[in-house]
Amino acid sequence: MHAIPDFCGTIGNTPLIRLNRLSELTGCEILGKAEFLNPGGSVKDRAALGIVEDAEKKGLLKPGGTIVEGTAGNTGIGLTLVGNAKGYKTIIVIPNSQAPEKMELLRNMGADVRPVPPAPYSNPDNYNHIAQRTAEEIENAFWANQFDNTANTDFHFSTTGPEIWKQTGGDVTAFVTAIGTGGTLAGVSRYLKSQNSSVNTVCVDPFGAAMWSWFKHGHLDFDDGDSIAEGIGQGRVTDNVALAEIDTAYRVHDRHMMAIIRHLTREEGLFLGPSSGINVGGAVKVALAGGPGQTIATILCDSAQKYMSRIFDPTWLTENDLPPEDLSVEGMIDEMRSDL
Ligand code: PMP
Repeated sequence: MHAIPDFCGTIGNTPLIRLNRLSELTGCEILGKAEFLNPGGSVKDRAALGIVEDAEKKGLLKPGGTIVEGTAGNTGIGLTLVGNAKGYKTIIVIPNSQAPEKMELLRNMGADVRPVPPAPYSNPDNYNHIAQRTAEEIENAFWANQFDNTANTDFHFSTTGPEIWKQTGGDVTAFVTAIGTGGTLAGVSRYLKSQNSSVNTVCVDPFGAAMWSWFKHGHLDFDDGDSIAEGIGQGRVTDNVALAEIDTAYRVHDRHMMAIIRHLTREEGLFLGPSSGINVGGAVKVALAGGPGQTIATILCDSAQKYMSRIFDPTWLTENDLPPEDLSVEGMIDEMRSDL
C-alpha cells in the first residue's frame, strides 16, 4: 500500500521547478517552489495544517469545534479543507475587496463566509479583530490568528525549509519571498540559515507595503505606492515577521510583476497569481544584484485562476493603472538592472 492516509497528508512535498528562461537570461539557477500544487491550491495549506495541528496538541481546538479566521482567502481555503477533513466547522472573515472567485470557492467548500469592508489594522473593525471577537463569542471556537500565531513559522521551518534544502542538494545560495503573515519567509529563512549561515535571505515587497522599509531601514515609514497583489503587502511587524532572519530587501513594481506572470504562463506553462510574480521578480533582482552563478529559490504561491476576472481583463487593468501589455521579460530585466 502506498496510499496517503488522509487529505492532510497531501499538503507539502511540492516540486521545485527551474524557471528556464529567467535562469538563462540571468546566468543563475532561478527555482520556484510549486506551492500552487498543494491540495487547496496555495502555500497557505501549510500554515493552515500547522496551526490546526498545534491547536489540537495544545487543547485549544476540541472535537466538533469551529475554526475562525480573518483571511484574504488562501488561508481560509486551507483551514476549511483541513477542517472538513478533521471534523471542524470554519467561519471565514474576509475583506470584501478580495477577488470574488475566492469567496465563491470558500462558500462552495462549506465555509461560513463573512465579507466585511476593508479597514486598517488600527481600526477595531479590521477583519482580524472581527475574527478574534467572533471566536470569543462562540462556544468551542478557536481563532487561528495566522499573523501572530508562530505555529505558522514553525510549520515552514519543519517542512518548506528542509524540502528546499534537500531539493537543491544544499546548494541553495539565496531565498526570496514576499510577506503576507511572514510565516513562509520566517520559517524558510531560519531553516536555511541554520544549515548554512551564508545563504542570502531576502524579503521582496510590493509597493504600498512596509516590509522593505522595515528590513532596509529599520522603520515602517516607507509604504508609498500601491499594488494589486492579494495576500501580500504587510504594514506591521507581525510575530511571524519578527522571527525572520533577513539579509536584504527589494521592491518589485506591479508592471514588472505582470510581465513575469505573462511570461511564465506563455513560455514556461506556469499559470500563476500576482504574489508569485512579485516573488519571481524578487529572485531576478537577487540574480542581477549578486551576478551569475547563484542558486536562488522562491515561492510560486498560487495559480492565476482565482484572479482571472482581474489580471486578464484589459479594462480592470487600465482602471488599476496597469497597461494591458507592454513589456517583455528582456525589457523588464533591463529596467530592473537600471533600478538597482
Ligand atoms: N501569496 C498569496 C497568494 C497568499 O495568499 C499569501 C498569504 N496570505 C502569501 C503569498 C504570503 O505568505 P505568508 O503569509 O506565509 O507570508
